[in-house]
Amino acid sequence: MVQKCILCKEDIETTFLEKLCGTVVKVGEGESSKKHYVCSVCQKEHGENLKEKISKL
Ligand SMILES: [Zn+2]
Repeated sequence: MVQKCILCKEDIETTFLEKLCGTVVKVGEGESSKKHYVCSVCQKEHGENLKEKISKL
């Protein structure tokens, strides 16, 4: 299954080991928490502000 980047909406590529070329950001606590997928380009662009950026979407 192909994941889409939450920020740029592009498909996130995977390596041959099906490792995501990007990162997963968990937002929220407990049962209301959500996983968001972010591509490596957006991960680099937003760096340490990534989680903050996503939580404001
Ligand atoms: Zn992206």
